[in-house]
Amino acid sequence: MSARTVKSLLADAAAMFDSDSALLDAQLLLGKIIGKDRSWMYAHDDADVTETQAAAFRLLAERRSAGEPVAYLLGSRGFWRQHLDVSPSVLIPRPETELLVELVLQLELGLGVQVADLGTGSGAIALALASEKPDWQIFATDISKAALEVAQGNARKLGLDNVCFCEGDWFAALPSLKFNLIVSNPPYIAAGDPHLARGDVRFEPAGALIAGDEGMADLVHIAEQARLFLKSRGWLVMEHGFDQGREVRNLLETMGYSKISTHFDHNAKERVTMGAWHAG
Ligand code: GLN
Repeated sequence: MSARTVKSLLADAAAMFDSDSALLDAQLLLGKIIGKDRSWMYAHDDADVTETQAAAFRLLAERRSAGEPVAYLLGSRGFWRQHLDVSPSVLIPRPETELLVELVLQLELGLGVQVADLGTGSGAIALALASEKPDWQIFATDISKAALEVAQGNARKLGLDNVCFCEGDWFAALPSLKFNLIVSNPPYIAAGDPHLARGDVRFEPAGALIAGDEGMADLVHIAEQARLFLKSRGWLVMEHGFDQGREVRNLLETMGYSKISTHFDHNAKERVTMGAWHAG
């Protein structure tokens, strides 16, 4: 068998990867190089690829085997119903965060809805909401200019024009408005958490992952400040770590939010907590 068939290239690469999804990773990377999808590769696994393509693929495979995330190597990741461009300037959108989108879409928010997505990264949450709710006006912030450029590029590619992008530190980036809904997937991992030494997170921006006070600092700041930026009966919805549910519920209760609830992700971990704000 030639060393350049689809099948042999995939098998050699998958054997190098320390990943639960080694074959899938290899297929996605080869697919990018040869411009074919996985079903084509199954049907044509004895097809030869060119030497140039094989060499390009082997380079990507080496980077993958050194741990680089597939999403960064491909430059994109699926989230909700969209493909988003991603770069090492942004967190790779996660399926857990789709739970937040799903929960938000179930809220009764009425008409003329204004939303803030704090720390938008690739724009995942803001753009998913923008596509589902074309009449919502969404403000997506990030302190990282590079991240906002990625998010803006995604909005352009998706043809979504109901999102405004604002650069700055959490609420400081927002116009002086009150919102029906404030959402965020802020950094919530404690510095020194052993998870930071494993898998994709090693390559993701530390600023998108790590927060002070054992991972709680940004969750606390957002919950505190959101009270000044929510309309009465507005909602705050935040993603958090699997072991932070109780702490976030306590926080919201102490701060005067009501209708507080935590929701489980597809791994049965507490992942998203929300509360309503009734002013006055
Ligand atoms: N909001 C973005 C996401 O959900 C980025 C989150 C972050 O960088 N912490 O993917």
